[in-house]
Formats: sequence, C-alpha cells, structure tokens
Amino acid sequence: MSSLILYQYTPITQPYGQLPANVSHELHPTLYDPTGDVVLSASTHRTLPDGTKLEYPQYFRMHRETLVKGSPVFAEMLAPIGHRASSRLSRVALFDGVPHLPLQEDSAEDLASFLHVLCHPEDLVQFIETHGLPGPAQTDAIFRLADKYKNEEVKKPILELLKSWPTTLDAWEQWVAELDAASFQHFSASRRGKSSAPSLNERLPSPDRALRLARLYCPEIIPAVFYSIARTPTNQYVAWTKEPKLHWLDNLELKDQKRLLKGRERLMAESEKLVDVILAPPRVPDDNAAACERPECERFKDWLANTAFTQSSHDVLGVLSRSAVLFQYGRRTDDGECLQFCPACRREVWYRIGKEKRRVWNLLPKIFSLA
Ligand SMILES: [Zn+2]
Repeated sequence: MSSLILYQYTPITQPYGQLPANVSHELHPTLYDPTGDVVLSASTHRTLPDGTKLEYPQYFRMHRETLVKGSPVFAEMLAPIGHRASSRLSRVALFDGVPHLPLQEDSAEDLASFLHVLCHPEDLVQFIETHGLPGPAQTDAIFRLADKYKNEEVKKPILELLKSWPTTLDAWEQWVAELDAASFQHFSASRRGKSSAPSLNERLPSPDRALRLARLYCPEIIPAVFYSIARTPTNQYVAWTKEPKLHWLDNLELKDQKRLLKGRERLMAESEKLVDVILAPPRVPDDNAAACERPECERFKDWLANTAFTQSSHDVLGVLSRSAVLFQYGRRTDDGECLQFCPACRREVWYRIGKEKRRVWNLLPKIFSLA
C-alpha cells in the first residue's frame, strides 16, 4: 500500500492543496516514523490560490541505523550529531526532540523517492513487477540521490528491468517470443473479461525513456532498443504519433529520430534483398555432385517467395523467423500434396536464414549509425 502512496505521489497540489495558507512545515505522510531517532528535512513548495509560491520544509523521521547502513555519505554527515538530544549537544538543532539534519540541496520529493526505496526496497521491486518503472521524475530522483549518497543497491531493481532487454540474437528471439506470448495471454484474458497483471510489454519503459536510461547505465542494450522501435509497422508508427499514450516518439532527441528514420530505410533495403539471398539457386555441393534441380523444391521456393518474402518489412529478423517456420513445415497444396524441400535444400535454406539473422543483428549498430 505504501508503494502506491510514494509512486503516485504528486506533492505540489494534491495532498496539500487544502492546507491552511499559513502552514510553516509538514511531516512526510509515510516517512515520518515516530520511533525514529533522527530527522532529515528538505524543502518543498506549493502554489497558493493567488499564485504565490510557498516554500516550506518537509520533515522525515528516520532510524539513524538505516541511514548509516544505507549510505556512507549519511554516515559521515550524521557522525558529528549525537544519538540523544541533550544539553551536551546544544549545538545540534533539534526537531520533535531528536537531532535534525537539514538537507539544503535536495528537494523533499526527490528525498522521499530515495528514502522510501532505502527503507522499503521490496516496495520498488513489487511496483516494478506489477506496473513497470516508477515515473520519470521518481526514477531520476532515485538514480541521482543513489549516486549522491553512494548507494548502488537502490538502483538494482530498475537496472534489472532495463537489462532484460536482449543483447544477443538468441536472447532477442527468446524475448520476442515471450513478449508475443505475454501479449496474447493478456489479450485473451481481457477478451474473456478477466483482468490480468500488465504484460511485460506494458511494464517496459517507453523507448525514449529506455534509450535515455540505457545511455546512462547500460549502453549495451541501445541497438536492440532502436530495433524494437524501428520494427514497428509503418501504419502503427504513423498512428502512434497521434496517440496521447505514445507521444514518446516525439520525445526522442532529434538526432535519434534521424538515426531511426535512416535505420528504417536501411532495414527496408535489407528486407528487399532477403528473397534473393535466402532463395538463391542452390550452391553446387563440394563433392561436385549436381545441385538440386528437383521441381518440387523450385515450386516450394516460388511459394515461399510469394508468401514469406512478398512484403518488405522493417522487421527483417521477424521476416526471417517467420520464413523459417513456414519452410520447416512445408506447404499443403489444394490437391492435398505437401510441398517440401529435399534434405539438401532444407539444410541450405536453414543455414542461409541463420547466417542472415546473425549478419543483420551484428549490423544493427551500423544500421542505426551508432558505430
Ligand atoms: Zn532440393
């Protein structure tokens, strides 16, 4: 429950809109533990009905032990401040009877995001499992303060979701299969009127956020993030920009938009070459035996050319995977005949598909002008 309070936390107007105008401070609604032995404070603000901005401190009452364990920076800051309020410590400012450490540089909202994860790491894990990343402001605050207060642990659940993005071809294919299966399950559950947990698709950050976070924390996923965007069919791509939920495309930096457009041109060119590469005449085998001239193999190639490779697509890897499925199972004609490759042709086409996939995957950094 507390995770929802934090992650849907809109501090400026919602919870405090009805505070009296003369408010001078407030206690954080979830991070003020009466049993805490130290108080931190940071500044927050709200706008009064007449437009004036009111800035005031928000207080967080914490356990010193949690702060010291969670951050060497806090440990150092708290070291000169005594454990108990006493006359001996009269130089130390007190709040509510315990030592008070004002943090001048942090905003109360950022501090709340960070402290919440520090005190209740399981809430962030659970939130990501059910909803995806917290909002951009909160994610940024967690990372920024994690760096400032030297705590790598709080970043981990966020990085783990980002690092689920594939970095190898095998991982990519598995990932796409999982996304498809999860979307299908989600779709069929919602058709039956049942609600299900959001699918991985919905939990992943939008590509503009993924790209920005990847640049900062895991650059190895960047080519796959670009490819995820670029493989989207054009009609959706155009429609998406009109959807309020998908305005992230506009959020891409201009140079990334250019990379994406150029990359899509290159993927389309690759896609148009596939039919010739995959279905080229069979090579003469090494032992000088004649290449396959079996008419059935030729008829099957014609059929594949007119089905799997008939439409060019930006999703070159998807076309290759689908064609692999089609040629594996053969084709049943109207008169009941099942067209299939001879073993030699099957081997050769299978090999070419695998080789093309690897070539295109390895080419992604060039395709998107990243190399
Ligand atoms: Zn053959």
